[in-house]
Amino acid sequence: MNAFDNAMTQLNTAAVLMNLDPSIHNILSHPERVLEVAIPVKMDDGSTKVFTGYRSQYNDVLGPYKGGIRYHPNVSKDEVKALSFWMMIKCATVNIPMGGGKGGVIVDPKELSAGETERLSRGYVQKLWRNLGSDKDVPAPDVYTTPQIMGWMRNEYEKLVGYADPGVITGKSLEDGGSEGRSFSTAQGGVYCTIELAKKLALEPKETTVAIQGFGNAGSHMASILSGLGYKIVAVSDSKGAIVNMEGLAIDVLSQHKQETGSVISFEGTETISNEEILELDVDILIPAALEHVITKENVGRIQAKSIVELANGPTTPEADKILHEKGIVVVPDVLANAGGVTVSYFEWDQNVKGEHWTEKVVLEKLEKIMVDAFNTVWANKEEYAVDMRTAAFVSAIERVAEKM
Ligand code: GLU
Repeated sequence: MNAFDNAMTQLNTAAVLMNLDPSIHNILSHPERVLEVAIPVKMDDGSTKVFTGYRSQYNDVLGPYKGGIRYHPNVSKDEVKALSFWMMIKCATVNIPMGGGKGGVIVDPKELSAGETERLSRGYVQKLWRNLGSDKDVPAPDVYTTPQIMGWMRNEYEKLVGYADPGVITGKSLEDGGSEGRSFSTAQGGVYCTIELAKKLALEPKETTVAIQGFGNAGSHMASILSGLGYKIVAVSDSKGAIVNMEGLAIDVLSQHKQETGSVISFEGTETISNEEILELDVDILIPAALEHVITKENVGRIQAKSIVELANGPTTPEADKILHEKGIVVVPDVLANAGGVTVSYFEWDQNVKGEHWTEKVVLEKLEKIMVDAFNTVWANKEEYAVDMRTAAFVSAIERVAEKM
């Protein structure tokens, strides 16, 4: 099954439970528009390469399409469609006035120079600008895309339309109209969810062990904020492998090590394990923070974690979800756990549209309120309907979208 099939299985589960109107179910089973473009890029050696890019605009009844752009070799049309569907559910789960969208380019960004990355990013906008805009579709960063890339894209868009529209894209640098707190907001939102989860499960931070798969923007910030709160981060990983020390890792020293060597592996005092093994550690909280499809029917039987906080999008397949629920492992789903990113993106858009700049304190207070309210609403629904948290989140999100339709 591909990511979009998985997303549709999740939709169907919620639709049956909530007795969703078949017409609305049918409409929500398709993205409204999927654009595929060929982006020619002049490479540094003088040759021209053509990259395939996508933008999936799933649904905009709650507000402009919203969602990141991913640069990764495994990007596909199905993946982008699934991710845009999850963005629709995510925005509705945290109740922000944004719809669902997602973009991607099939590329290994590690093989591009800065100049090539800039030309690719501008090329993406040259092909898609007619479909973008602060009141139409608002992209943002995702896997391997950065504030710098958002800046190039904003600049290219404004050159093409001929007027300033800072809210056309979020996740920009602070100098370029970005919001305070956006750089770590995905993790911060996940932290607010983890704190609420710890209360529900009566976990004491200092005795709570955490394993984090993925040490990119979301995973590394999650590790440092949680460790600052006293949680014991015992294992982390990146694309090169995973490290573990059940006594806990000094995250600030580890971040330094990652910066110097390019990887978390071979960090002093740790044992190296694989990216599969990190998922199977006996910890209180497992945090997948990389890509989709890592907890599947193949490895779910070996998962020992007591709970899972999904910082990545789509890390758990529907078959695995069912088994985790039967085993009593609580999963805080992606559409809630990682919604801090898009929530602060919405704040950034709101500030841009109004010409305001809020302090970090204001941003974090607003974010905390939204995340804590959303967590507790989803938790209450899970209890009331005796379902897992994902289904509970889907039901209330789809209710919001359906009502508006
Ligand atoms: N890429 C992030 C996500 O998957 C953020 C999207 C946004 O800020 O629009 O939620």
